[in-house]
Amino acid sequence: MRQHLYEPVHEEFRALCATFLEREAVPYHKQWERDGIVDREVWRKAGKTGLLGMDVPEEYGGGGQAGDFRFQCVLVEEVVRAGCSGLGFGLHNDVVAPYLTDLGTEEQKRRWLPGFCDGDIVTAIAMSEPGAGSDLAGVRTSAVRDGDDYVLNGQKTFITNGEMADLVIVVVKTDPSRGAHGVSLVAVETGTPGFSRGRRLEKVGLKANDTAELFFDDCRVPAANLIGAENQGFYHLMANLPRERLSIAAGAVAAAERLLALTLDYARGREAFGRPIGSFQHNRFLLAELSTEVTIARTFFNHCVSEFNAGRLSVSDAAMVKWWTTELQNKVADRCVQVHGGYGFMLEYPVAKAWLDGRVTTIYGGTTEVMKEIIGRGLGL
Ligand SMILES: Cc1cc2nc3c(=O)[nH]c(=O)nc-3n(C[C@H](O)[C@H](O)[C@H](O)COP(=O)(O)OP(=O)(O)OC[C@H]3O[C@@H](n4cnc5c(N)ncnc54)[C@H](O)[C@@H]3O)c2cc1C
Repeated sequence: MRQHLYEPVHEEFRALCATFLEREAVPYHKQWERDGIVDREVWRKAGKTGLLGMDVPEEYGGGGQAGDFRFQCVLVEEVVRAGCSGLGFGLHNDVVAPYLTDLGTEEQKRRWLPGFCDGDIVTAIAMSEPGAGSDLAGVRTSAVRDGDDYVLNGQKTFITNGEMADLVIVVVKTDPSRGAHGVSLVAVETGTPGFSRGRRLEKVGLKANDTAELFFDDCRVPAANLIGAENQGFYHLMANLPRERLSIAAGAVAAAERLLALTLDYARGREAFGRPIGSFQHNRFLLAELSTEVTIARTFFNHCVSEFNAGRLSVSDAAMVKWWTTELQNKVADRCVQVHGGYGFMLEYPVAKAWLDGRVTTIYGGTTEVMKEIIGRGLGL
């Protein structure tokens, strides 16, 4: 289907991303998967190539493409197409950036954004805790004001880029008596005394992406590290989560398209009972159905990106595109593994890795069930 979303400038950027990934990530990715983490140098190389902070203003070292989320989408899509699931660029560019660019003070922007864009500062966002994931108002990590500082105590888990990160935006309670109205965001530089990392978590997929536990033990950070307004953290999160969900949907649609393309190739070439397996009516209908659904996903996703760029993407629409595309990605992955037969279960076939890597997308960034709750509330239910 003809794409209506991207213009020549985005396609040029796509070529840049693809060349970068082919040279700097694909040859090393298997080793990174064994290591459980990517090489730090790839972040610096990505920064030099202009793949970090595309929408950060140029005066802070960024690409100056604020207001055009298509550049972010192109990078996410190309990372998926290259099978480089260990690269946490999406989390850095799409999820963390707006907390710094939109909510940061001038001093914070000057301190952190140049390093953010050149890959010297890898970022993470720490919301989830062992006792609070979907229910963010239930976080227990505290930040108590003491003179010109906040003193943090608590624990976070499942944090993407957690082991590599130099700067973590931490969701804390500054007023535990006020529930969601007592939540704030505090940026913690990871060299700060009292900050430590736990074990690297062993996952079923995304093997090269470091996901870690973080601990705060009387961790004292300047009050000037507050991001946005005190006790307004929940609202800052709510304002930015649609962008995170759109980014996850970008990866989901690209993954579904890639799985389908790989499987169509396989179904044309693999023979059983003297015929290509794709010619059996069951497989032909299955692939026809998946192809239809993936086209619908792409169309809805493109619409959501245009709405986002126009400042109109609603919280409900962001929830819809997140749950629907990630559930579809998982359905497509499951069916494509089946069409590959035993080879679909072998990690040397990209569909097997895509099946494992994709499982988490209906969970992180807000689960499918939570997305449906958001949509249901939007319907007045
Ligand atoms: C690989 C990976 C990377 C991640 N990266 C990050 C990160 O960088 N930063 C970060 O902060 N977090 C991160 N997370 C955490 C992720 O966002 C949470 O796992 C997710 O929000 C779900 O929270 P939970 O695991 O506590 O599940 P729970 O909230 O305990 O939910 C368990 C089940 O109950 C369901 N449920 C919960 N509430 C409701 C409800 N109201 N109605 C219906 N069903 C409900 C859920 O849908 C789910 O099926 C990551 C997780 C993974 C696995």
